[in-house]
Amino acid sequence: AEPKPKYKRIILKLSGEVLRNAQDGEPIDPATLKAICEEVKKVYDIGVQVGLVIGGGNIFRGLSGAEMKGVDRTTGDYMGMLATVINGLALMDCLEKLGVTVRLQSAIPMAKLAEPFILRRATRHLERGRVVIFAGGTGNPYFSTDTAAALRASETGANMLMKATKVDGIYNKDPEQHTDAVKYDHVPYIDALRDRLKIMDSTAFSLCMENKLPILVFSMKEPGSIYRAVMGEEIGTLVD
Ligand code: UDP
Repeated sequence: AEPKPKYKRIILKLSGEVLRNAQDGEPIDPATLKAICEEVKKVYDIGVQVGLVIGGGNIFRGLSGAEMKGVDRTTGDYMGMLATVINGLALMDCLEKLGVTVRLQSAIPMAKLAEPFILRRATRHLERGRVVIFAGGTGNPYFSTDTAAALRASETGANMLMKATKVDGIYNKDPEQHTDAVKYDHVPYIDALRDRLKIMDSTAFSLCMENKLPILVFSMKEPGSIYRAVMGEEIGTLVD
């Protein structure tokens, strides 16, 4: 029998950092990029509608970038948004080479290289089974790509926002620093907000809470994680 995914439409948020080469520090590592795209293809192949929101932190992060480079916060933020477009192009190219039909949409119009973000058009692509990459964040400074992911998931009516991170869920304390850290299977939105969990910023959390959009926080380190998650396996931490 055909594998039956639990979720029909998902938005997957990938931090820019997931593309980085761990050894030499290069912002976009071809092998890593390919491995991620293969993970996406696994769920695309079983008919899950996938929207990707890509970050830009591997190339430029607004706030810290602005402090270091001496540019204004808003200028730094636009630089960060442009970084997400660079990552989006890399993802698009790689997915296409794997035989995935994909459209890149940018919140900041850039006619030569991406469609402008148009909700109805994006939804149509998803319905037709095309992967949509949402680049350019929300198109506004002072926001994050996590918030962009929460926004795109809400507006496209996704069943779930999947947030791939370095750790395999939400812990009571930093598991990289404490060996006795305990992982939660489930965290209510309100706790995530109150505890200011570093997994996502509060703007993103509150948008999800208001729109009753569940968030799954998990690690992409083990291959097959996205697939297992869309099949309804209980991996990571569910925020709802
Ligand atoms: N950014 C922004 N508005 C948005 C999304 C992103 O100004 O709607 C800027 C912000 O400066 C941010 C940078 O783009 O630091 C890169 O995005 P983010 O830090 O969310 O990327 P990630 O950490 O996921 O790689």
